[in-house]
Amino acid sequence: MKHLAAFALALCLAFTCCGCAQPKQEQIQILAMDTVMTFTAYGRSREDAVLDAVGEVRRLERLLSRTDEKSPVYRLNQQGTAEVDGEVWDLIRTAADYTAATGGAFDITVAPVVSAWGFTTDSYQVPEQETLSRLLDRVGTEHIREEAAGDGQVRLTLDAGTGMDLGGIGKGYASDRVVEVFQKAGVTQGWAALGGNVAALGRRSDGKPWQVGVRDPARPEDAAACLGMLSLEDAFAVTSGSYERFFEQDGTRYHHIIDPATGYPAQSGLVSVTVVAPLKAGGGTMCDALSTALFVMGEERAAEFWRQGPYEFEMVLVTEDGRVLVTDGLADRFALEGDGYVLKTLS
Ligand code: AMP
Ligand code: MG
Repeated sequence: MKHLAAFALALCLAFTCCGCAQPKQEQIQILAMDTVMTFTAYGRSREDAVLDAVGEVRRLERLLSRTDEKSPVYRLNQQGTAEVDGEVWDLIRTAADYTAATGGAFDITVAPVVSAWGFTTDSYQVPEQETLSRLLDRVGTEHIREEAAGDGQVRLTLDAGTGMDLGGIGKGYASDRVVEVFQKAGVTQGWAALGGNVAALGRRSDGKPWQVGVRDPARPEDAAACLGMLSLEDAFAVTSGSYERFFEQDGTRYHHIIDPATGYPAQSGLVSVTVVAPLKAGGGTMCDALSTALFVMGEERAAEFWRQGPYEFEMVLVTEDGRVLVTDGLADRFALEGDGYVLKTLS
């Protein structure tokens, strides 16, 4: 049975609007992609918009799942070869671009290593170093080969021992698609929270930006405990945190974000990374891939990556020693609330 904690939101949400005449909103909450998702829309087509968003997420869940026997990703992992449509191939290529851009910190082929730690089945274990070394030999996007298969399909073949897991980017991609669905329906005000992947459209009805809380990593059992608030308007915000999924053995805590360079849970000195970007096409996917990658990179490499570009994003890094590092483009949109943290601005 899944632990409730596994469904806890990585961002605690505070989308409330107090003291204003409440326009009609439509809201639906579902369990999908192993997390709780909430879709909220305002305006004339709000009902159709949230229903269409649910349909779109269900479609993507069937397409991208690693555990659904009918998904092409499942077939690819089981048989080592499968035909995928253009959409799945595009996402895999985008993921591979982020692998290249992040020096391998984000890598969907880390899947067999994630499984060896038991994070896909919840039967956790610390793998032998020998096992990790063998699995790491097959990690890398160069182990994916493709050939055209007609009708817009692509035949993918994985080298023996290679596997694929879109868990670090799939919800971000889904958030991009949900925003598209909302916009197509004419919705300009609303929000979607796909676990820790948030998209905020427009502003609240009182004219103020949406308020999105960043979870306090020190209190993983309390999904409502926030260390700070982000003010967001037409933006994506995605958090990756070591508190989201972990187990303890012999006094050591092992979490689910794996450093593809070592095969071990990233020990980067960070406990959470939140990436914020404008509500542009592909922004949700970017935030998801980068939040995972920056977590692996750690404070210094992450800051360097942010400074160098070319990606347009801001971030909040929370370190193990209680510092909250906020990039200067976000400084006036982030308010620290948690006790025991020290706020610093990165420039
Ligand atoms: P996220 O919550 O977006 O940071 O994604 C974490 C999930 O992505 C994990 O549960 C794994 O399934 C997968 N994952 C773990 N480490 C990596 C990595 N370095 N690159 C890509 N995906 C990863
Ligand atoms: Mg991610």
